[in-house]
Amino acid sequence: MKIKIADLEFEPLINAETIEERVKAIGLQLNEDFKQSVPVFVGVLNGSFLFIADLIKQISIPCEISFTKLASYYGGTTSKLKIRDDIDLIVDIKGRDVLIIEDIVDTGNTVHYLIDKLKQRGPASIKVCSLLLKPTALQKKIDELKYVGFEIENEFVVGYGLDYKEMGRNLDAIYKKV
Ligand code: 5GP
Ligand code: MG
Ligand code: MG
Repeated sequence: MKIKIADLEFEPLINAETIEERVKAIGLQLNEDFKQSVPVFVGVLNGSFLFIADLIKQISIPCEISFTKLASYYGGTTSKLKIRDDIDLIVDIKGRDVLIIEDIVDTGNTVHYLIDKLKQRGPASIKVCSLLLKPTALQKKIDELKYVGFEIENEFVVGYGLDYKEMGRNLDAIYKKV
């Protein structure tokens, strides 16, 4: 069923059950991969808030969770090369295993910026987990990107945390622009 958000129409792309299953599978994998240390999960607000919440409930190993806030799209439907750094990460990550949790990697500029910034703080390791990836939009290779929920076409999506003009974040499924 099509939905309207502000001036645009969207149609279903990934339903809630499919997201739930995939998030569970990623959680199991993280429990295995990070069992040797107490990792710091770094959620990138706003878009990843539902993904982080659902993913973290699947984590059964000791871990910390903290947040940073970056913005790139500012209400439009295409990636801006300029990144707005709204809220810095407070927790000390020196010597820690860090997992960045993102909603979507599009051009890769935002996550590349964050990896660069956090690397300067001396973590033991940095890896990235993103719910979505647009492989054909990626402008630089991101070796740290180890966990991806779904690869999608180069199309604009909303729902499950992702917005269009700050709306649609509450949807439990992911929709693409018609
Ligand atoms: P990048 O820097 O990789 O081009 O874009 C990263 C950020 O842009 C994401 O964290 C997300 O906030 C936003 N973004 C990229 N693609 C989409 C999309 O299809 N829909 C929405 N709502 N945001 C997107
Ligand atoms: Mg994001
Ligand atoms: Mg946005």
